[in-house]
Amino acid sequence: MFKALMVEKDAESGKTSASVTEIGLEDLPEGEVTVAVEYSTLNYKDGLCIGPGGGLVRNYPHVPGIDFAGTVESSQDPRYAPGDKVVLTGWRVGEAHWGGYAQKARVRADWLVPLPEGLDTRQAMAVGTAGFTAMLAVMALEDHGLTPGRGPVLVTGAAGGVGSVATALLAHLGYEVAAVTGRPEQEGYLRDLGAARIVPREELAETVKRPLESETWAGCVDAVGGAMLARVLGQMAYGGSVAAVGLAGGAQLPATVVPFLLRGISLLGIDSVMQPFDNRLRAWRRIAGDLPMDKLEEMIRPATLAELPALGEAILKGQVKGRVVVDVN
Ligand code: NDP
Repeated sequence: MFKALMVEKDAESGKTSASVTEIGLEDLPEGEVTVAVEYSTLNYKDGLCIGPGGGLVRNYPHVPGIDFAGTVESSQDPRYAPGDKVVLTGWRVGEAHWGGYAQKARVRADWLVPLPEGLDTRQAMAVGTAGFTAMLAVMALEDHGLTPGRGPVLVTGAAGGVGSVATALLAHLGYEVAAVTGRPEQEGYLRDLGAARIVPREELAETVKRPLESETWAGCVDAVGGAMLARVLGQMAYGGSVAAVGLAGGAQLPATVVPFLLRGISLLGIDSVMQPFDNRLRAWRRIAGDLPMDKLEEMIRPATLAELPALGEAILKGQVKGRVVVDVN
């Protein structure tokens, strides 16, 4: 028997509740590889899956946890053998399939990535889906011509998970990073990660009044969406790109097409869930090489399975700083 965070749904009220319980190997879903999970983490999506579901979880009882890192315990696939260190993000694990909030997980071999050299399982989960997605966003901006010489890069939702990793990565790569935050008390934290400038959230909160503002940003990693993304589009420098990662501030995009037509800007969609294996490997190798591990340590808030229901509520309210690392053991 081993520990898992189980979410149950009351058939009458439709309300969900999460608690730590004991389950056995026979309870795990089908898959070729069984992993002894060492660490998992907390992402915005986990907040939804631990709590109200957000339409992501279809079947209860459910074990959430959209990512994990650990050691292969048994494998029916030739690519993995007992003792191999692996990391998993995406593929709707923790939503449609039981996830990483348990001491063991069983998944498809196709969903795993060998842990890259230079990272241990705790560091991999300090990065987690949020950090992996930040890396995908930076890679997309670079693939569209962003270089440090082009000008400052904006990161929205900067004190959150995606934003913290994006800030540290970009600063380490030599970019001048402007960090947007609604939490002025996090200025010191963001400057330690490498932000050169702090932009108060209120400055970008208003909806678009003029389709074009001063050309300010060469690139942007946007975790917020909504009115803020629309404003940012009008502030992009000629030929600049925005990587759209999240919707912490809303799913609408009340923008005009003018910045696309007059400034040739690009809006790049970033999806971490269905990324092909080769690009996953590329992103994890870049993380191991380009993310300063001392900065990663500064982002970590350690947690246990039992703390997750409260932390899940906190992340949905935008109250979690940096990256929560869950020691499931
Ligand atoms: P966090 O909650 O850690 O970070 C989100 C940050 O956004 C908050 O910390 C806050 O930053 C800011 N924020 C929150 N609410 C608002 C608001 N109403 N208006 C403006 N800013 C706000 O979440 P994650 O970093 O884990 O995820 C960020 C987003 O990215 C989520 O929407 C998530 O679903 C999405 N995502 C998408 C992925 C993909 O594959 N495309 C993968 C991973 C995440 P501050 O306090 O600094 O203002």
